[in-house]
Amino acid sequence: TAPERRDFIRDMIRSDLANRKHDSIVTRFPPEPNGYLHIGHAKSICLNFGVAQEFGGRCNLRFDDTNPVKEDIEYIEAIQEDVKWLGFDWAGEPKYASDYFETFYGYAVHLIENGKAYVDDLSIDEIREYRGTLTEPGKESPHRNRSIAENLDLFARMRAGEFPNGAKCLRAKIDMASGNINLRDPVLYRILHARHPKTGDTWCIYPMYDFAHGQGDALEGVTHSLCTLEFEDHRPLYDWLIENLPVPARPRQTEFARLNMTYLVLSKRKLIQLVKDGHVNGWDDPRMPTIRGLRRRGVPAAALRDFCERIGVTKSDTLIEYPMLEFCIREVLNKTAERRMAVLDPIKVTITNFPEGETDWLDAVNNPEDPDGGSRKVPFSRTLYIERDDFMEDPPKKFFRLAPGREVRLRWAYFVTCQDVVKDADGNVVELLCTYDPATRGGDAPDGRKVKGTLHWVSADHALDAEIRVYDHLYGRPDPGAEGDPLDDLNPDSLIVNTAAKLEPSLGEIPVGDAVQFERLGYYCMDPDSETLGKPVFNRTTGLRDSWAK
Ligand code: ATP
Ligand code: MG
Ligand code: MG
Repeated sequence: TAPERRDFIRDMIRSDLANRKHDSIVTRFPPEPNGYLHIGHAKSICLNFGVAQEFGGRCNLRFDDTNPVKEDIEYIEAIQEDVKWLGFDWAGEPKYASDYFETFYGYAVHLIENGKAYVDDLSIDEIREYRGTLTEPGKESPHRNRSIAENLDLFARMRAGEFPNGAKCLRAKIDMASGNINLRDPVLYRILHARHPKTGDTWCIYPMYDFAHGQGDALEGVTHSLCTLEFEDHRPLYDWLIENLPVPARPRQTEFARLNMTYLVLSKRKLIQLVKDGHVNGWDDPRMPTIRGLRRRGVPAAALRDFCERIGVTKSDTLIEYPMLEFCIREVLNKTAERRMAVLDPIKVTITNFPEGETDWLDAVNNPEDPDGGSRKVPFSRTLYIERDDFMEDPPKKFFRLAPGREVRLRWAYFVTCQDVVKDADGNVVELLCTYDPATRGGDAPDGRKVKGTLHWVSADHALDAEIRVYDHLYGRPDPGAEGDPLDDLNPDSLIVNTAAKLEPSLGEIPVGDAVQFERLGYYCMDPDSETLGKPVFNRTTGLRDSWAK
């Protein structure tokens, strides 16, 4: 069994269970379907679904679909897919705040009947103005003391569609002088003549998040409503509503710090802008911090879960360094990704003593970290490619790769010695003439002779031409937006496309989405564009080691 995880939320749950406050726990993950999930949501997903699993409880997926103007079925479907891809499943059917609209309406009427809510005619701007500031109490609306009968009538007419958007709203009657601005008669319902993805034209008034959220929790029997710190100030309102409504349960809200990461902007609104304005190629662009972007980039779900576990859950804001994510990716991929050979910047090598037209099929181990990983055949022939920077005509002493007169090992194949070079008219080396030692087949010399360098290579006749997409951070600074608009910080070189790459033939059979390690280069995964472009396209997931730490 896994070691017991400790953090302030799990400690609270342990003690609630030990004290018999609850027989079992219920959590929920409550996305608003107004965009795609990002790595910040992954933290919340791993927490909510994770604690439900660990403590034998359940976790609901509840769409917080209270703002029809920004919400869409497309997002509802994508969110379900992403949660499942991350490795979690919800209890029963997905839930929707809109499932409870009729009940919420009844709760609002209940407040009115008890003199705890009123219909206001002030505009949203006026309400904001009347609300006051941290140092200054708010001002009461002139409509605050309408009779219960008048409020009931007006609220019914709001529902019936008698008033245009913004003409009226329903507000809780709490305290305009409260030290907590959220308690200064918060808006509970607004008029919005908009078609809702689930309820269509049934409603033209919609509950505010604060009115829907806690009541949705209560209706679902949620015991622990875990949300991010910006809702801490809303908790008194959450509790006020629970206390003043005939709800079937008393959920408790607990806040934790949201995920912030260097080089990333985690806000659906800003991510939408990147997509809409064409700064990236869609929600699943491998540069996006969305779950589908990370997935397309080749990040395994297990690495994201491990990342969320390692960063932990705290009560105060932290900034996670991006390389932490790459560390988690490498941890998983080093164990699971099969090794292959690819040459990204090829230079031609002719093995002058290897017979023309012949192929020697060599055994190559798929994954030295996985004893069950098996092996594959790699073709060796007279014409090969190696990386241009694995050769130097006039190398320094510590250069252990190929140079005139030097011998190296070609991975899984033979020792080769560079005998001569061919140059073009400008004096650039365009081809290396080498000899191989047939006795070293498989990579060892029977006479015990050692070489210092082992190079990756591919056979020219058998190689696949490929497109390799190499990604850098989408933003050119670790704190995008720190000096204004994050769009001004976009990194112009965040995508570099390489169409010169040559791959060993077995790379044509890698399933889309599967990660491989290109030996000595990094982790890559086959992009779905391979199918449409009719050639292998690989995304670079991450390098083999932390290039920022150096
Ligand atoms: P955004 O600001 O990106 O639009 P949001 O909080 O409005 O995010 P929701 O769809 O309401 O997005 O989020 C669903 C859940 O995910 C909420 O409980 C929210 O607190 C949580 N969440 C969102 N962003 C983060 C984050 N960066 N770190 C941890 N949890 C997050
Ligand atoms: Mg939200
Ligand atoms: Mg938001």
